Amino acid sequence: MADSIYADYPPTLNPAQKEFLVNTVKDWATQNGLVVRPAPAFVSKDTDSHGVLATNAPVTLFPSPFPKACFEEAKALQTVYNKLYAAITCNEEWIGKIMEDLIDVDDFISNLWKVHLAVEKEGYAQTLSLGLYRSDYMAHAPANSTTPELKQVEFNTISSSFGGLSSLVASLHSELLSSPPGNPIAYPPHFLLKSGTVPENTAVETLSAGLAEAHTAYGPSRSQPSLPTCILFVVQENERNVFDQHALSRQLTKVHKIPVFRVLSTELLDHTSIPSSNPSRPLIYRPPHAQDTPFEVTTVYLRCFYTPSDYKSDRDWQARTHIERSAAIKCPTVLNQLVGSKIVQQVLATTTGPDHLTSFLADTDPSIIERLRSTFAPQYDLSVSGKGRELALNPSTAENHVLKPQREGGGNNIYKTAIPDFLNSIPENEWKRWILMELIHPPAAAKNVALRSDGEVLGGGVIGELGVYGTILWDQKGGKIHHNEQGGWLMRTKAEGVNEGGVATGFSSLDSVILF
Ligand code: ADP
Ligand code: MG
Repeated sequence: MADSIYADYPPTLNPAQKEFLVNTVKDWATQNGLVVRPAPAFVSKDTDSHGVLATNAPVTLFPSPFPKACFEEAKALQTVYNKLYAAITCNEEWIGKIMEDLIDVDDFISNLWKVHLAVEKEGYAQTLSLGLYRSDYMAHAPANSTTPELKQVEFNTISSSFGGLSSLVASLHSELLSSPPGNPIAYPPHFLLKSGTVPENTAVETLSAGLAEAHTAYGPSRSQPSLPTCILFVVQENERNVFDQHALSRQLTKVHKIPVFRVLSTELLDHTSIPSSNPSRPLIYRPPHAQDTPFEVTTVYLRCFYTPSDYKSDRDWQARTHIERSAAIKCPTVLNQLVGSKIVQQVLATTTGPDHLTSFLADTDPSIIERLRSTFAPQYDLSVSGKGRELALNPSTAENHVLKPQREGGGNNIYKTAIPDFLNSIPENEWKRWILMELIHPPAAAKNVALRSDGEVLGGGVIGELGVYGTILWDQKGGKIHHNEQGGWLMRTKAEGVNEGGVATGFSSLDSVILF
């Protein structure tokens, strides 16, 4: 069944059909905010010196078929995953043991850990912690079966992006499927397009509701006199994916009536302060455009600080520490960011030794724990001699693996036969910075057509990666969960033969799904 679905999908476009779809998608994207700032390689600074231009986000013309059972399973497991990552974050001793090994070889992890230790020493001013997560998967086609399995690519605990834009792609494809209403002809005839619908995508509602929940849980202002409260988005300089972020802030202001401000991570220390006279350590934000109207920040939402290049100097580390020691609820805390490291995913997936899943999810039905466990692809530690090193150093087994460092944001992995040479080119004591993961093999022969941000239209074999969003608010002291929700999803589609899969890094396009 799966093979036959992919075989003649999507229907072939003649030039007029293609032109119609490309023009429709192009205009729809701009009209509805499915846009990004253009890459400098496409529109140079000279052409757009004031930064006024936006272009369509890279997007597929067709929704991609995706196995319904995998999609439903990913949604069903999200609140369990939320709970798991909250529980891990509460177990500092466990995290400490894992980080211990990395600290002497990985500056970035080591500096994050130091921020946590420094704030811990002073005492955290806030025990509530907010996670806006995205669990990423591929449908895996096992060699011996025709039933696809759901396999996790990674779990994101910081800056989980594209909730805003992915909801729009779902709307775009839904509109195309029923266009014009009553007698849809936007797409050439195909049974999937005729009968299929794109599932509802509530990413914007869910992610914003998580932030709103934290805002409310913060309670009244701790300043004297009391101040109006707000949520603060901390963002990167030259962020191209701003409209994705605006989708969340807009929902927060329009629906939840919560003031939201944006500040560059590099300007955090200029515009925020913690009064030294107030032991509650409220984080005060003074908007540069309204200096006389300070706000108290209830919740800091990080869309930055996940990658080493976000910390160019000591001042950036000071800024991160400043946030961490404040009374604002962090999304995420340093600890919660650290448990999103690939090494934690590897440790959880390890089948020998202690059963961490069962200990972290002690009150969860064992059959659900097993379902969650079955989403893990085999992963190996490279710190010591053993199976991981054997698989990685032998070109014929390396071929079926990917090597991942403790980094986020795409473009960092080493793939397949490049693995042995790469490992041999670095000192052996640095191997423990990396984990080895078996490759997930999606069903072959899926195809789609993408309109890239520079207007190029590319068609061909593709691989899809599904992300499912979840939010959780918990008390780090005692672990009580105040809010735990699943909602919304992201489909990203990359060209077959390309190893990496990021949209922001230019490797893939935003997509939606038709379930089969
Ligand atoms: P990052 O934190 O950089 O996003 P990921 O683990 O998501 O790291 O890896 C980046 C990309 O590499 C993924 O989007 C996916 O396309 C590819 N990838 C990662 N792990 C696997 C795997 N086990 N099998 C197949 N592809 C993978
Ligand atoms: Mg990823």
